Amino acid sequence: MNTHNPLSDPLAEGGFETLCAHYGEHRLAHGGAAAPPLYQSSTFVYPDAEAYERRLLPQSPYYEYTRQSNPTTAMLEAKLAQLERGNWARCFGSGMGAITCAVNACIGAGAHIVAVANCYLPTHEFLQQYLDRFGVKVTFVQGVKPADFIAALRDETRVIYLESPTWGRFELIELAPIVEAARQRGITTIFDNSWATPYFQKPLDLGCDLVVHSATKYIGGHSDALGGVVIGRGDELRDTVLREAELLGAVLDPFAAWLMLRSLRTLAVRLEQHQRGGLAVARMLAEHPKVREVFHPGLESHPQHEVARRQLSGYPGVFNFALEDQTRAATNRFINRLRLFSIGCSWGGHESLALGGTLFDRNATTPLWLIRLHVGLETVTDLVHDVRQALED
Ligand SMILES: *Cc1c(COP(=O)(O)O)cnc(C)c1O
Repeated sequence: MNTHNPLSDPLAEGGFETLCAHYGEHRLAHGGAAAPPLYQSSTFVYPDAEAYERRLLPQSPYYEYTRQSNPTTAMLEAKLAQLERGNWARCFGSGMGAITCAVNACIGAGAHIVAVANCYLPTHEFLQQYLDRFGVKVTFVQGVKPADFIAALRDETRVIYLESPTWGRFELIELAPIVEAARQRGITTIFDNSWATPYFQKPLDLGCDLVVHSATKYIGGHSDALGGVVIGRGDELRDTVLREAELLGAVLDPFAAWLMLRSLRTLAVRLEQHQRGGLAVARMLAEHPKVREVFHPGLESHPQHEVARRQLSGYPGVFNFALEDQTRAATNRFINRLRLFSIGCSWGGHESLALGGTLFDRNATTPLWLIRLHVGLETVTDLVHDVRQALED
């Protein structure tokens, strides 16, 4: 066996695309397989009783049980940790599995959480309604001013839960002052990086402690698998997250892990295309007389474009906009006229999607009617044309 083949070892260095293609796959340990093997096995067996007794030692070659770990999932975890510049990653059966586990790993009875108000809606429900049953209190911060997050901290605060950009207006939270205040007080910061992915934003480098993802979205990228991941650097947090995952059991299926490994090969090229399409559609909308406002942080007109440029290296293809005609009828009419964009929740797949909804923020008494676009991988001029024709009378 050629032990000098560099691909027999995980490549710790290299650009994002190189890591996606090669990192952590140990091909020569798998007969040279160019695509990683799928270990669709719930349990693992041993040659003798002594090997079983030694199974938890670091040098043991045996896995035990897929709720704890699995070779295919472990490859995905190694790769995702490297892409986010973390030291470890744990995969889950969905983004919500990852988010609830990450939060639970950091809190106990009587804990307090500070969270961004315009976070992903089921996350909001978990934090507010579900955790209330266990005496955990949450302060939701409206808007994105770091001083408001810091002012909400209490002695019992254990977690600051962040998403940036926020849903709704796609506003940016400037992370540096918040993570600094959290570090001084020993509070764990958790950041949902599903939107930007590690290709465009690296929250651990920006000072956050844990990154969570809905891998269902861009990481999976083909609308065919659910998944989630928690990524971090410190050993203490790793041990609590791993234990939480094993006991609550919301782990990723090996086949979904295998699909995610395949999807990561193209994450960078997909996101470049999503970015191109998203910006082209957003720019057309921003100049259209029937459009009131486009909430895309990549537009120079976005109020926090400067913060976006500091924290992000690019922009994926999901954003909101509001029509001049702020009625349900006009919003639905636009969505119904789209041909290439299907009507559907979720996002991050190859196909374009649109969805209408309302936003009540800034103490508004009337809602803002928003349209969310997920700009997919279709030909950019086709997508721009489709959105333009849907705005016509
Ligand atoms: C979809 C989504 C989630 C939840 O992920 P699932 O895989 O659906 O459980 C979490 N955060 C954000 C920002 C999402 O868009």
